[in-house]
Amino acid sequence: MTELTNSAISEIDSKRLKFRQRVFDAGLLVPSGVDGVYGRSAVFEAIVAGLASSVNRCAAADGAESYRFPPVVTRSNYVKSDHLRSFPQLTGSIHSFTGTDRDHLEVMKQVDAGENWSAHFTPTDIMLCPAACYPVYPMLAGRLRPGGRVIETQTYVFRHEPSVDPMRLQFFRQHEHIRIGDPNEVLAWRNTWFDRAHELLTAWQLPFLAKVASDPFFGRGGKLMAKSQVEQALKFEMNVPIMGEDHPTACVSLNLHHDHFSHTFGIESSTGGVVHTSCIGFGLERLTLGLLRFHGLDVNDWPTAVRSELGV
Ligand code: ATP
Ligand code: ZN
Ligand code: MG
Repeated sequence: MTELTNSAISEIDSKRLKFRQRVFDAGLLVPSGVDGVYGRSAVFEAIVAGLASSVNRCAAADGAESYRFPPVVTRSNYVKSDHLRSFPQLTGSIHSFTGTDRDHLEVMKQVDAGENWSAHFTPTDIMLCPAACYPVYPMLAGRLRPGGRVIETQTYVFRHEPSVDPMRLQFFRQHEHIRIGDPNEVLAWRNTWFDRAHELLTAWQLPFLAKVASDPFFGRGGKLMAKSQVEQALKFEMNVPIMGEDHPTACVSLNLHHDHFSHTFGIESSTGGVVHTSCIGFGLERLTLGLLRFHGLDVNDWPTAVRSELGV
């Protein structure tokens, strides 16, 4: 894991490392030896749970259905989603050993010699989940009931983006609300979330700025995709200046997918027409770290209204 002693480190990374160390020292996150993979304390988890409940109370009028999935997607649904085309650099694939006794002996020989031992591992039927809403779309294949659906879900997701930035994890939770339905209704729902996100961040007493954003599409072709995403204003982020105004951190994302997922997974309206999807994702660890940064590492010092909103 990256240490603070590296003199080549930039000013912002040194600031990030200092904050991460303070969070470790307070026992809120537990280092694992790998950047972006940490344990969480009971207090940290209480804040995470409080955030998710606060989000759900704010959206109570939607009557969302709740689902929980393991942090994986099937390999075939993963391929269909086109994630690999857009974000190969973030992918996590699950492999396992399927060899013979002899292969096993060879693997252990490689392990003992400190060599690369992955050659005998083969891909399983599952991939690590790249976004909390991914397991939702395949289950909706077919015709929707009239009015469409609103779904609430939360899971750990994996992104291979190791970093010393405590706000950039490899495993973290996204708490999402997803709307699937008539294009106009989906757009209107997305728009109500601007107000809700504003209300929530204000209740949590976190400063923020809403901004049109793009995803880190891979390669040269990716630049065009990101440009088009911005031009169509498909993605908005609520940025919180956790590490200062010059380095805002995206803590909430609002996404319009048009018919990408509905087309891919064969989701139709009750009459067989085109439907759109949209999701809003709350980064639970980022928001928790934002709260710790702005209100203090000891929740007892937090403003009473924030503690009561989050039940901590
Ligand atoms: P960034 O631009 O910072 O990489 P993102 O655009 O990739 O963020 P989304 O893909 O929209 O983020 O994910 C939804 C939410 O998940 C984000 O708003 C953020 O709160 C959280 N998130 C994304 N990547 C990470 C990460 N590596 N570590 C912790 N939280 C993250
Ligand atoms: Zn989503
Ligand atoms: Mg990202």
